Amino acid sequence: MTTTHSFIAGQDVASADTYDNIDPATGQSLGAVSRGGAAEVDQAVTSGAAAQREWARTTPEHRSDRLTAWAALVDRDAEELARLESEDTGKPLSQARTDSTVAARYLRFYAHAIDSYYGLTIPKGPDLHAYTLREPFGVVGSVIAWNYPMQLFSRSVAAAVATGNASVVKPADETPRTAVALARLAVEAGIPAGIVNVVTGTGAEAGAALTAHPGVGHLSFVGSTEVGSLIAHAAAERVVPTVLELGGKSAQLVFADADLTAASEAVVRGVLQNAGQTCSAGSRLIVHRDVQDELLDLVVQRFRTTTIGPGSEDLDLGPLVSAKQQQRVEGFMDDLAGGELLVGGSRPEGEHLSAGAYFSPTLVHGVDPQGRLAQEEVFGPVIASMTFDEEDEAVALANSTAYGLLAAVWTDNLSRGHRLASALRAGQVFVNNYGAGGGVELPFGGWGKSGYGREKGYEALDAFTQTKTVVVKL
Ligand code: NAD
Repeated sequence: MTTTHSFIAGQDVASADTYDNIDPATGQSLGAVSRGGAAEVDQAVTSGAAAQREWARTTPEHRSDRLTAWAALVDRDAEELARLESEDTGKPLSQARTDSTVAARYLRFYAHAIDSYYGLTIPKGPDLHAYTLREPFGVVGSVIAWNYPMQLFSRSVAAAVATGNASVVKPADETPRTAVALARLAVEAGIPAGIVNVVTGTGAEAGAALTAHPGVGHLSFVGSTEVGSLIAHAAAERVVPTVLELGGKSAQLVFADADLTAASEAVVRGVLQNAGQTCSAGSRLIVHRDVQDELLDLVVQRFRTTTIGPGSEDLDLGPLVSAKQQQRVEGFMDDLAGGELLVGGSRPEGEHLSAGAYFSPTLVHGVDPQGRLAQEEVFGPVIASMTFDEEDEAVALANSTAYGLLAAVWTDNLSRGHRLASALRAGQVFVNNYGAGGGVELPFGGWGKSGYGREKGYEALDAFTQTKTVVVKL
């Protein structure tokens, strides 16, 4: 078994201490991980700053070429990257393969986008020439979660590097290997050493050191609301901007005129994908009374026939990322907020699953909208379901949590779809679909406790740059 080290200035950098990378399907170690801290972060930021000055002076065309080459290498190694991702996270192999594909798509999207990212000219009359430049921050830090390691890495790093920044990434403690592999490929693609750096380690050590480092000019974070708040405090101390992508409790609203087959499939997929450990998981179902029995039946049938096993077997549902996460999900079953358990609610049976961090697909109907199960993010394959009669009631239920990441409306009435798209408090609203396959091109981020700022799409280019206004007297 090998040790995964930090990757700084194009080199593996070992730390004095290591910890075990635990396979969530077996509880066994997949290898050791270097436990980086303040020294490794400082080394990464210093080499990032040294490399960034030249990188920012290259043409957008050059950066575009390098990002395109990087994407091709990710495609070349897609199968190996997917295997590492599946082992680290527990997710089924085909979902990890999608993550490799999407990682390459982010690199390509920002490679294309940077070629057409312009400032403005501002009319000030014949004597003044005023224009804006979008300039990089310098070294930017990204602290990311374990649920989509490759996607989160590449969406943040691709936009940062395309706009002329150097990146230092702290991957999640549980899932360091694909971040290091992707950074290595960046160097192979001709991106100068030091532009893409990874410091492995724990949040309290490497993560906190990165957020506190005076050489980091922008912070982006994906993770829990609690840690996001800590990061925002650390950023405020040094007055640096942040993008926070935090949790969610996203609702799927199903009206009586909806295509129930399509809706039920999206409801199932929306919470089984990545075992529900998706910030945008559709973890609340808000269903019209007239169709609730039919819809709930469809979901229960699909949950009962879900196949469960290690990521390598590529079934419907893999383990949660860790035993800790499994216990957390289980803890929600102690109080069903007055709801009725229709299916699931426990660890699945079977000798071969007993050592893994598995949890059965779970549907609880009729929960108190203010109860914990309806309000808090479970981050597991668990749906809290509620009934409504009137449209206003559905909107009020959907908007009744502190989060605001995604919402979906299932209806045959397009006017209602648009009306609700405006009324729902969420960063993304889908009508008769859910998630649009990840949506590299779609600005993504939260309202309320789901965070602020946007990544993905063109908006990430704005996030990773600052405007300079230049006024010349002619
Ligand atoms: P977490 O907040 O504990 O950890 C996220 C990252 O922060 C990890 O890399 C961790 O090492 C680091 N970290 C922890 N403590 C830190 C500290 N004091 N200083 C700096 N860094 C620190 O979250 P988690 O439990 O690993 O991930 C699950 C959460 O992430 C869920 O709440 C989920 O909704 C959220 N999430 C959000 C999005 C999104 O895009 N909105 C995407 C994925 C996950």
